[in-house]
Amino acid sequence: MMQNFKVLQELLQQPRRIVITAHANPDGDAIGSSLGLFHYLEQFGHRITVIMPTEIPAFINWMPNFNQILVYEHTKRISNQLLADADIIFCLDYNGLKRVEKMSGALETSDAYKVMIDHHMDPQDFCHAVLSDVTASSACQLVYEWIVEMGGIDQMNEDCLTSLYVGLLTDTGGFRHATSPRLFRIVANMLEKGIDNNKLTDLVFNSYTVKSFNLLAYCISDRLELLDDCNTGIISISKEDHKKYNIKRGDLEGVVNFILKIRSIRCAALITERSDIVKLSTRSKGDFSVQEICSKYFNGGGHKNASGGASKLPFEEVVAQFKELVQGEYKAKLTE
Ligand code: 5GP
Ligand code: MN
Repeated sequence: MMQNFKVLQELLQQPRRIVITAHANPDGDAIGSSLGLFHYLEQFGHRITVIMPTEIPAFINWMPNFNQILVYEHTKRISNQLLADADIIFCLDYNGLKRVEKMSGALETSDAYKVMIDHHMDPQDFCHAVLSDVTASSACQLVYEWIVEMGGIDQMNEDCLTSLYVGLLTDTGGFRHATSPRLFRIVANMLEKGIDNNKLTDLVFNSYTVKSFNLLAYCISDRLELLDDCNTGIISISKEDHKKYNIKRGDLEGVVNFILKIRSIRCAALITERSDIVKLSTRSKGDFSVQEICSKYFNGGGHKNASGGASKLPFEEVVAQFKELVQGEYKAKLTE
């Protein structure tokens, strides 16, 4: 779906005040697409700010212009002002206002022309222009394709391509899933333009600190429960764990993927108790849809094989509810 992009392209003919946003708890695709678009647009005289709703993970702190990103929760006043004054707001890698958490009010009330570029299922209706494509590997892929379509291929500089490449890498797990001929053609083009795959792969994937590596070991050795009867693995991390191991938001990024390394596993969940909410991060293999579970029971969604959600119920109840679902309603599908 590509709606109203002609209007956007006309707006971009003049220098504009632009704010680029992505989802809370931003990942490589959220930040890569935002910085990629930033580096492309900044050449045309626009005044651009990148704002993330919450803290940025450290593993991408080497990205070009990373330091200029505003974190909404620490810069509310200035960010609210920038959102209110913007001519155009880009909403990258998210499909609904809920996904920007406390920033949603300022985003919703702004009179800016809002543009969604996203690859999640079920896009909500809050933007004027929408580029939504669930068959794309990443928001970075869609930003790249949109720039190419505008005739901007030669204006994508090294910083732009590097940023976009990060999202291609992270959202495909190093080109292991959500791939397509269409994606690999883009990758080939980027390599021809000088992108260093080995260097970026190393920067993105060999990025554990000793603390996060030990945390991963703890999750697997102490917190992983394997439910053999339904080919599911669950790692649950309580408030006490957070305190005891000084776990910060983002430290557990990617942990859920390790559960899938067990061949028999079809469904995996990381359930974490935050101060005010219980968060679920889920993964699956093949036809089994964690998107269905997250949207039906946990007020969330995402993609068929990678989704998230949240619950206001007590932590133990959420863990029990998830188990009940995979051992009950979804057991047949998980064992067929
Ligand atoms: P992760 O588990 O890596 O945080 O997220 C997996 C996928 O699900 C990502 O594409 C992410 O954007 C999406 N996602 C994560 N949490 C939520 C949520 O609470 N609601 C919705 N709709 N999507 C989510
Ligand atoms: Mn994404």
